[in-house]
Amino acid sequence: MMQYSGKSVYRGIVLGPVFVLKNHDTQVRRRKISDAEAEIEEVRKAGIKAREQLKKLYDKAIKEVGESGAAIFEVHQMMLEDEDYLDSIHNMIRTQMVNAAYAVAATCDNFAEMFSGMDDDYMKARAADVKDISNRLIRILEGNEETDLSSMEPSVIVADDLSPSETVQMDKEKILGFVTVHGSTNSHTAILARTMNIPALIGAPFNIEEIHTGMMAVVDGYKGEVIFEPDEEQCAQAKAKMEEEQEKLRLLEGMKGQKSITKDGRSVHIYANIGNVGDVGYVLENDAEGIGLFRSEFLYLGRDSFPTEEEQFQAYKQVAQMMAGKKVIIRTLDIGADKQADYFNLGKEDNPAMGYRAIRICLKQPDIFKTQLRALLRATMFGNISIMYPMITAVEEVQRIFEIVKEVQKELDDAGIPYKYPEQGIMIETPAAVMVSDELARLVDFFSIGTNDLTQYTLAIDRQNEKLDDFYNPHHKAILRMIKMVAESAHRHQKWVGICGELGADLDLTEEFVTMGIDELSVAPSMVLKIRKAVRDMNISGE
Ligand code: PEP
Ligand code: MG
Repeated sequence: MMQYSGKSVYRGIVLGPVFVLKNHDTQVRRRKISDAEAEIEEVRKAGIKAREQLKKLYDKAIKEVGESGAAIFEVHQMMLEDEDYLDSIHNMIRTQMVNAAYAVAATCDNFAEMFSGMDDDYMKARAADVKDISNRLIRILEGNEETDLSSMEPSVIVADDLSPSETVQMDKEKILGFVTVHGSTNSHTAILARTMNIPALIGAPFNIEEIHTGMMAVVDGYKGEVIFEPDEEQCAQAKAKMEEEQEKLRLLEGMKGQKSITKDGRSVHIYANIGNVGDVGYVLENDAEGIGLFRSEFLYLGRDSFPTEEEQFQAYKQVAQMMAGKKVIIRTLDIGADKQADYFNLGKEDNPAMGYRAIRICLKQPDIFKTQLRALLRATMFGNISIMYPMITAVEEVQRIFEIVKEVQKELDDAGIPYKYPEQGIMIETPAAVMVSDELARLVDFFSIGTNDLTQYTLAIDRQNEKLDDFYNPHHKAILRMIKMVAESAHRHQKWVGICGELGADLDLTEEFVTMGIDELSVAPSMVLKIRKAVRDMNISGE
């Protein structure tokens, strides 16, 4: 039995088998070798195996996404046979007498840097491919082969750390819980765990080498504890707690179909946050009145190239249709900071959270933005879609956004493609936006307060930095005053205001938010009924 404490990001409990996910980006160790030719033979064998894997992926992708989506796996097979790439690996092994995995990693870095430095966008994008094929070879060489996650039993995922793009690729039906050694409670991986309603623990100081796939584990998000190889008594306790939890959930069932209205008659909309189409099931299951934040950037993660207009259109249309007329607020892509996709070629930044991200990318690279806007506008025909823009700091940004939206509308008009005029709002997640919220409120239809970033920028605390979790205090008076100020600005101009950051689900503040006049709370689907119950139990006039 091995027991560790960590930081809980979702209060729930589970008992199940472990699946160890090795971090692909961990540093490859350099070893001195004595037989270069034997090492080169290992590279050759790994190459054959990698091509076999890619062939299978190609066949699967052809069936699921068609020829254009599958083509990348063919390109990867060809890249694995590229003479310059292979020569570089072989030379490094022969001249430096180093292990094959190290030679692949070093060659990968050199090639990726070379591609990123090219002017041509197509060639730039090859940097992501070379990393992908090299990681595949390294995994094979190191015996950490990609396990077929699709054949995985429902499991507790154990990893050193998980990036949002790794998380987004997983088959959510099969994840019972997460446990990681690193990570911050405010990261997007933690947010994904909350959306998926699964017990998750981060910052648990275990040695991943001692944990093996197939071991049993209890993840207790209430206590903030993981137990690997629990004894009989611990298993029995966990099972009893899981039953208790089921019972509590059954009690909340009574909240379904009820209005979210206080005893003295003030109603609040309770919407849910999602990351992709698959999450809509959780939204419906928990009877949310709408979707208050669809983080569309997740459509861009975990892949090698930009999603096409058609792919995006299908995703937005599907969500709108599944929500059958209920409001769906889709946020335009908020890529950057911890949400990285290599093919964007954003480059290394000293301060990525304060860097080239979100609306800044969209305004600087309007082609990317316009593709998304076209897909969004086309999808307005299939439901009740609103568009929301992230990371706004100034009035001029909103004016420029609206100019671009008009250009896209004109293109659609000229092509005779139908769309409806959507409600358009902005996220208030920078102190600058708070301070000019009065002016911003004149321009837009609604505000949604992103307390995750607002806390990070106001308190000068990187939300990704696990060392600062204790200082990250969204209850800080500064934040609560800002929320109040934003609500007043919105209402002065008859606009509605919501909260879609994690603080919106904080039951200790629900009454304060309703009293401030917040019109909407958008929370993880699992929190919808709990918040509804809190709203129905309160009486804000005190009479
Ligand atoms: C926020 O910043 O509060 C927010 C909702 O957006 P994200 O967490 O995706 O940055
Ligand atoms: Mg944000």
